[in-house]
Amino acid sequence: MSQTTLITGGGGFIGSHLCEKILGFGHKVLCVDNFVTGSRENVAHLHPNQDFRLLHHDISMPLEIDGPVDNILHFASPASPVDYLQLPIQTLKVGSLGTHNALGLARLKGSRFLLASTSEVYGDPEVHPQTEDYWGHVNPVGVRGVYDEAKRFAEAMTMAYHRVHGVRTRIVRIFNTYGPRMRLNDGRVLPNLIGQSIRGEPLTVYGDGSQTRSFCHVDDLVEGISRLLFVDDSNPVNLGNPDEVTILEFAREILAITGTTNLIEFLPLPQDDPRVRRPDISRAKKLLGWEPKISRTVGLTRTVRWFADRIQGGR
Ligand code: UDP
Repeated sequence: MSQTTLITGGGGFIGSHLCEKILGFGHKVLCVDNFVTGSRENVAHLHPNQDFRLLHHDISMPLEIDGPVDNILHFASPASPVDYLQLPIQTLKVGSLGTHNALGLARLKGSRFLLASTSEVYGDPEVHPQTEDYWGHVNPVGVRGVYDEAKRFAEAMTMAYHRVHGVRTRIVRIFNTYGPRMRLNDGRVLPNLIGQSIRGEPLTVYGDGSQTRSFCHVDDLVEGISRLLFVDDSNPVNLGNPDEVTILEFAREILAITGTTNLIEFLPLPQDDPRVRRPDISRAKKLLGWEPKISRTVGLTRTVRWFADRIQGGR
């Protein structure tokens, strides 16, 4: 019999790519989303598939499911800084109550459980690149604390369910990811800069642009996640692309790809914005035989085209 996989946040950017990937394995996919930041449009193309089901539900509330559930991937959460700053309480609730509910379901059904955690658990890191054994440097009472601490709690809760109840858990720490189905207005650097360059507006670089990020294409990420699901290891695993770039260089790369010469406008750096971020992926390489394959130039070119189609099509 085919497996059933439940994906919370399946209507989101990464969640919708995971729904596709897991359907490709021949599983039945149950996509659970309350669409605060995800969208029905992200999964509209999956409805003709008999194995796909959509359930409109907020996982911060308990969820009852009939029948077996072999795997649960817990991806529900606002994830862009602009979103979680606007939805601080929902973010804390989905990371805490939502994770508890999803783990409770996994315990009841005997499911494998995979938690989507984040490089934000490292906060403004004092270890560079970030390895999984680094405990992080997070400001719990700062504005970003709502996301960082929710995910740190989620990791602790996941480990407790593993240790106490024997749930087969996995934790992925996801670094900056990009690709089709990011929301143009989610406030992240990539949609902002691509949108601005296509519309002929100045590119907004926060601070002096010397802060760094390392951007991974979503296709590489979901490949790594799907491998991790079937590996028996409960310790956190970083997934990301170690190719690090300053935000100012990144803005220039986007201008080069869009072939535009917009001005760059420097705006104040948001509070607690991490100075650097780059994954050490040695563990993922060893455990999963995984490393990213899509270079930033290739990935950005494809993503610019995807955004350009939407902007020009008025969507
Ligand atoms: N950023 C920027 N211009 C923007 C949006 C973001 O310079 O229009 C910067 C932001 O301050 C941060 C980096 O780009 O240093 C990445 O921000 P993002 O919101 O994409 O995600 P984060 O990695 O901070 O979670």
